[in-house]
Parts: sequence; structure tokens; C-alpha cells
Amino acid sequence: MNRTIELIKTIYEIKQLEDFEEPQIALAGRSNVGKSSLINCLAGRKGLAKISSKPGKTRSLNYYRVEPDGFFLVDLPGYGYAKCSKAERAKWAKLIEAYIQGNTQLKAVAVLLDSRLTPQKLDLELTSYLKSLGIPVIPVLTKSDKPKQRDRAKIQNQWKDILQQDKAPLCFSSKTGMGEAKLWDILAAHAAL
Ligand code: GDP
Repeated sequence: MNRTIELIKTIYEIKQLEDFEEPQIALAGRSNVGKSSLINCLAGRKGLAKISSKPGKTRSLNYYRVEPDGFFLVDLPGYGYAKCSKAERAKWAKLIEAYIQGNTQLKAVAVLLDSRLTPQKLDLELTSYLKSLGIPVIPVLTKSDKPKQRDRAKIQNQWKDILQQDKAPLCFSSKTGMGEAKLWDILAAHAAL
């Protein structure tokens, strides 16, 4: 299926949050994990989400409408950027929490994980937080063109054990397109539940 993605709303503060009727899948991950690149890859065009050479730049929450399915992909602000202040970090955490909690249209959160790194504390915190709320986690290993196959399999198994899911996380690369079609299938299936 040929899908299009269109940015329909960007917000920076809790008071700008809106209750949409459409099913939503959020995209979350540490800054620099490759989230903007993944969105651009899914969109099939380069400039939709800004790719930052400097990590920590994407600080807004962006709603994208996916057609023809009609669900939203919601790009959450990247977390874990070391160089931002405590106050700023707390503000983003509150925004993410406010978005997630009580959002009946949120069907799942795709958590982007860097395939080159062992499981990171903030990723573990996020996945257990989502689990505690009963929100399905779709783990996606980004930059999967980078590690050797053996190392990739190792990190896949680590995450499979941590998340206690039947299947290993999807390996994805916005550079090569690895996992793209499969990711679309998974996102659309969750949005349709
Ligand atoms: P964001 O901060 O999560 O939005 O991350 P970006 O999409 O801006 O990417 C951060 C850096 O990782 C950039 O230098 C990208 O070129 C690089 N990157 C993103 N995706 C991939 C990928 O699939 N493979 C490789 N090798 N590099 C990637």
C-alpha cells in the first residue's frame, strides 16, 4: 500500500494538547536514536521531520496523519539529551506523560532503540512505565545497518527477554530501508485494533 504522511500539528506545551478522535501510535526514543530519519523514511521524503546533526533538537510533539489508513503517528520529544537543563528535562517528561496518560486513542508506543547500544537506563524506564499503564510497546532497533549481524542478534535477544515479548524487536534502517515494510504492517495493525 502506498501511504502518505502529513504533519498536521506541532505542540510545545501541555495546554496545547488536544483530544483527537483518530487512533494514535506514538514514536519515542532517546535523542539521536534516528527518529526523524525513521519518519522521513516512512514518508518517503527527506525534509518532513528535521534531522538534527546536533542531538536534542527536536523538542516538540508532532502529529502526523497517515493516509489512507487515517491514523496518527505522534512524534514525542526525544529524551535523554545530556546537555539540557534539569528543568527542561522535567518539562518534556511532563509533556510526554500528559500526552500518554488517559489518552484512550493511544494504541501503542513504538520505542526506538539504538541497535549499537546495550539497553539504556532511560529506555528501560520508558518501557516499564508503558507496561505499567498497559500500553503495548513496539520495539524498533534503529541504525540496524551498523552492527554486525551477530551483535544485532544479541541486542535483539536482550530486548526480547527484557520486554518478555514473543517476537524479537524489528531491525530497522532508514539508510537501507531494512524493516520498513514490516514496520508499516506493525503500525497499521496496532492502529486498527
Ligand atoms: P533523532 O534525534 O532521533 O531525530 O535522530 P536523527 O534522525 O536526527 O538521526 C541522528 C543521527 O543518526 C544522524 O546523524 C543520522 O544520519 C543518523 N542515522 C539515523 N538513522 C540512521 C540509520 O538507519 N543508519 C545509520 N547508519 N545512521 C542513521
